[in-house]
Formats: sequence, structure tokens, C-alpha cells
Amino acid sequence: MASRRRRKGGVDTSKDIVLATVCSHSSLQIFHGARAEGFRTLGIAIKERPKFYDAFPLGKPDEFLVVDSYEEIQDHAEALREKNVIAVPHGSFVEYLGPEKFAKLDIPTFGNRKVLAWESDREKQRAWLLSAGVDMPAKVSSPEEIDRPVFVKYYGAKGGKGAFIAKNQEEFFAGVKRGQSYTIQEYVVGTRYYVHFFYTPLGRGGYRLSKGSLELLGVDRRDEANIDEMYKLGAQETLRHYGLYPTFVVTGNLPVVLRESLLPKVFEMGERVVERSFDLFGGMIGPFCLEGIVTDEMQFKIFEISTRIVAGTNLFIQGSPYSDLIEPGMSTGRRIAREIRLAAKAGRLDDVVT
Ligand code: AMP
Repeated sequence: MASRRRRKGGVDTSKDIVLATVCSHSSLQIFHGARAEGFRTLGIAIKERPKFYDAFPLGKPDEFLVVDSYEEIQDHAEALREKNVIAVPHGSFVEYLGPEKFAKLDIPTFGNRKVLAWESDREKQRAWLLSAGVDMPAKVSSPEEIDRPVFVKYYGAKGGKGAFIAKNQEEFFAGVKRGQSYTIQEYVVGTRYYVHFFYTPLGRGGYRLSKGSLELLGVDRRDEANIDEMYKLGAQETLRHYGLYPTFVVTGNLPVVLRESLLPKVFEMGERVVERSFDLFGGMIGPFCLEGIVTDEMQFKIFEISTRIVAGTNLFIQGSPYSDLIEPGMSTGRRIAREIRLAAKAGRLDDVVT
């Protein structure tokens, strides 16, 4: 009875809590941060235990669970619940298991899983951001309406794979893959920024929202192959003759800081997106990333939102120029663990775990 009374969000707060995630993406950082906050950690490895984790003792989980496939994780749900596990989602975990299956995973999970339905469908995502008053690249509703350079992308966060630029209709029809859902946007010229936020429903200080508060933990830019280096070979038009087309596959990340005068705009966007999420699905919790392009008119056009920890936060295991002004040494992975710890202590795990 006592232990049932202490079960919050399916977690027994009278026992040690174990933070678990799939060994990929940002997991070294998540395990490192969880350990710093005093949690035990469990790494779910697909097919085999990754040997390179031995090279990073401070990021290696306390134990591994090896499964044959992402789908098999659900078969271990009961055992994971017995271990008092809270799963921490990241891009690969959600994308490779599939957002629908992740939403149904029978394990207590950090964050509000209702966000998945809004994030994984590009149309719903757009409706959310636009209704929050966020500026986005204009949408081109059909290929016949392409009258300027456009960017074509497929659903799901596959690290930019498959996306392509079309400067006219012919290029669109030559490049598009049939049978996959895609979206067409105006191609925005400017500089890309990936802004890492953290929304805490428990927050009472800092940048206040109608409930809780919003933190800015870092900003990165992605290295994308082959677009970033193609210019060395000459104009893209010429390269087509050799069968070379630009691709947008993320291969790494670089740290950046924004002009300070952009910060009010950045906070305003983050605030609106979180406030709107309260109305739409009860609120987004924890880390999220607004991914956009700043034009030479200083307009911020958001092309995507990621509603969980993004891999660009891996740059800031020891903190960033922004998180250092909140608490030195605070990574996003550690911030997640801190939120779970604070919520457990306050008897409010239900507010951050679903
Ligand atoms: P996404 O799949 O939305 O994450 O986009 C992958 C990459 O494509 C981004 O990191 C940008 O480099 C680029 N990109 C996406 N949307 C646009 C756009 N509307 N205009 C220009 N570049 C874009």
C-alpha cells in the first residue's frame, strides 16, 4: 500500500529511479547528466552492446539491455517498470521506434507524449507553430505552384535525408520520390540556428510563462553533407551534369551564439510555442528546439520544431554560453535529470512523466 501511495506517474518514488534511453543520438550526455544528478542509468542497445561506450566511462550507463530491434523494447516493458525506469526520449529513439509505437510504450516516459501527434505530422506541426504566431517559410501547396526556389522534405526526422532543393517544377518532378508524404516550402536564404530550450512546469523564477518557466540552454548549427562543401566544386547547376545533387544529411554540430539583439525575439517565440501547446494538448514538457533561418532583415523563420533533446546539445556537456548564466556545468541531459529529481521530491512526477 505504502509503495502504491508513492507511485507517481507509474514510478515508485520510495525506491531508486533508473533513467533509461536507447544508446544513440544524445545518450552519452543523458547518462552523464543522470549520473551527475544521482540516478542509476540503463542503456538500451539495439542488436549489440556498443563497444565504444567503454571509451567514455562518465557517459556509459550502469547497465545495458540488449534487444534485437526497437519493437522488442515493448516486450521488456514490465521488467523495465519493475526496475523503476523512466525512459528519456531522444530523436533516434522516437524516430526509429516510430512515434505511434513510442506513444504507446508501456513505460513511464519523461515529457508529454501527446506532443508526438503534433510533431510527427508536418501539417499539424505547422498549424501549431503558425497559430502560436511564429513566422515560418511560406508553404507551396502543390508542385504546380512552384514559382521560386523551394525546399522539399519528407515526414519524420531522418537527419535531413532525402530532402532536396528544386528551383522550378521540372526539378521538383525529377527529384521527388513517389509514395512518401512530403511538404514544399519556399527556400529561405539566411543563416541557420537551432535553439535549445527547456520548459519547466515546476519553475517559479527566471523567464516566467503563464505557468512554469522557460530556459535557453544553448544554440548550435548543423553540419550538413554534401550541401555545406559542394561550393568547392563549383556551381550546383554544373555539378548536376556529373550526377551530383545537394543533400542535407546531418553529420555533426557546431556551437554558435546569437546576436544579443535576437534574444528577445527568441524568447518570445519559445514562449508562444509553449503557451499554445497548453491549449492544444496540455503542454509540452522539458527540452525542445526551434530550428530556423535568420534572414538579412533579421526575421527568424522557423522551419521545424523538435520536441525533445536534440543532438546539437551534445556540444554543451559542460554548459553553454547561455546555460552558464543559469547554472555552470548544466547540460540538457543533466537538466532533464534535475527536473525528474525536483519533481520526485515535490511529489509532482505526474507533471513531468507520462
Ligand atoms: P528539416 O528536415 O526540416 O530538419 O530540414 C533539414 C535541413 O534543410 C535544415 O537543417 C536546413 O539546412 C534545410 N532547410 C529546411 N527547411 C528549409 C527552408 N525552408 N529553406 C532553406 N533551407 C531549409
